[in-house]
Amino acid sequence: MTLLVVGSVALDSVETPFGKAENAIGGSGNFFAASASHFAPVHLVGVVGSDYPMDKLVPLQERGVDLSGVEQAEGSSFRWRGRYTHDLNSAETLETHLGVFSHFRPKIPEAFRNAPFVFLANIDPRLQLDVLQQVERPRLVACDTMNFWIESRRPELLELLKHVDLITLNDGEARQLSDKYNLVQAARWIMERGPRRVIIKKGEHGAFMFSEHEVFFAPAYPLEEVFDPTGAGDSFAGGFMGYLAKTGDISTANLRRAVVYGCVMGSFAVERFSVERLLEIGTADIQSRLQQFRDLVSVEEELGAS
Ligand code: AMP
Repeated sequence: MTLLVVGSVALDSVETPFGKAENAIGGSGNFFAASASHFAPVHLVGVVGSDYPMDKLVPLQERGVDLSGVEQAEGSSFRWRGRYTHDLNSAETLETHLGVFSHFRPKIPEAFRNAPFVFLANIDPRLQLDVLQQVERPRLVACDTMNFWIESRRPELLELLKHVDLITLNDGEARQLSDKYNLVQAARWIMERGPRRVIIKKGEHGAFMFSEHEVFFAPAYPLEEVFDPTGAGDSFAGGFMGYLAKTGDISTANLRRAVVYGCVMGSFAVERFSVERLLEIGTADIQSRLQQFRDLVSVEEELGAS
């Protein structure tokens, strides 16, 4: 089944303890699409400026991402500059330049409006709401957000929560949004405002999925080298939503599986700058890391031996 994503299509300048990248392909929409396209056909909607290197999006197109909803507008592209010091779990935003995003109104192409799975990637909540008015009763709508929007568009974000089935956000964002330090309380606070499920990502410490009556946890894969954490959250969401769209199954058991696929895809994203690693891997790599995840939490043999 197809997957519609609306998100930022950006140029990222990132500094990590291991190196620097200037104006690399980034943005929540790009990372999500690069990840989800391993599972299902993806329609990407967003905007870039006249300065955007469109040729750099060709590999996404070759992976089956439909870019006909990416508008090229007069002006400069969205740019994000961030830095990670030794705590690779949290980025320090040095600069956010909205550029053409400040005047953008998403126009969902007719052919994308009945996509059964919709992901409103990290972007202005006003645009996320706008998209919801244009789609026809998707089976599952999920969204993401970040501190920038929690601070600057809180009322719109709270309105959005009423209309989504699920939200993904990291632990800091969940605490900031709910004003609760305890993550179980934070998740409950968020669920009381709309979404039936909340996924709280904890970077190298894995991810929780909360619903009213249960909580599921998946670890992050313990990589020896994390090169650049940018886009890990969006790639997680791409794996999660991509797997749901591929299977067409939104049962609780399958949502749990999808969280593990999310962790698998997040673990690939951080191995290189930008979307490089996501574009290089194939199904065999994904399946092999999934097996490594199974081995990571399996205790069956030990139990059998005792
Ligand atoms: P993540 O590391 O998954 O949380 O997301 C990183 C991506 O988010 C980067 O590629 C940025 O271009 C993008 N980004 C940063 N700030 C914003 C923002 N305010 N709105 C939308 N996208 C953003």
